[in-house]
Amino acid sequence: MTTAFVSTARTEPPDSGQNLSYMRIALFGDIHANLEALEAVLEDAAKQDVNEYVCMGDIVGYNADPVACLERVRAMDCPTVKGNHDEDASGLHSLDNMNPVAAAALEWTRRQLGDEQRQWLRRLRMVRQVSDFTVVHSTLDQPAHWNYVTNRFDAMSNFSYQFTHLCFHGHTHVPRIYVKNDRVQEMAAEKLIIEDNAKYFINVGSVGQPRDGDWRACYVIYDVEKKSVEFRRVEYDLATTQDKILAAGLPHMLAERIAEGR
Ligand code: ZN
Repeated sequence: MTTAFVSTARTEPPDSGQNLSYMRIALFGDIHANLEALEAVLEDAAKQDVNEYVCMGDIVGYNADPVACLERVRAMDCPTVKGNHDEDASGLHSLDNMNPVAAAALEWTRRQLGDEQRQWLRRLRMVRQVSDFTVVHSTLDQPAHWNYVTNRFDAMSNFSYQFTHLCFHGHTHVPRIYVKNDRVQEMAAEKLIIEDNAKYFINVGSVGQPRDGDWRACYVIYDVEKKSVEFRRVEYDLATTQDKILAAGLPHMLAERIAEGR
């Protein structure tokens, strides 16, 4: 199925995460340096008998624990794709074209990360195939352009490049399901049974900065045998995360938005 890969993946070595004999996989991303949310998600996943993990990227950016979150994910040694904030935090390019709040947080994040941590982020792949599915932070058609999929029309261009049955992504921080059979449909995120005659492009939502009006950390469990995809919401110690944001001198708005899920 490697024909499904875009050029960034084609020259890369085979994925170490392939052909695992697991059953229940947690897919989590857009952590954005929110350690309390990340720990809560991993704790919840362990209780749900998850035995493998895949990270959808944007480990850092916005919130106050980039180093701890990066090291936590790195220690898990799970398949991980690169997010735009991972790229921006690990580069030296100008952030002038970015919205000022995100740019301020990224400048701060750059100062927290060590050389070796920046290098680890830089080396993350854009696209990976794990077991029978593909993962990408934004979209498969142009993964390095960081396009946002916010409706079924955006999803259509992704499907032209999706050769696996299932593809998981993140980036918008809004959990969502796009299904393609004879046409492309958008569905609200809830528990889903995967059918053989359709393709699915599934946004797993955000661990550390949800934007669908629900402040709780969001992630997905894919049960390979049952062919089920379940969205989970997990409460975490929001006040601690907010205190850390303010103590770090990051924009106040970042502490406010995580309480509102926007
Ligand atoms: Zn993000």
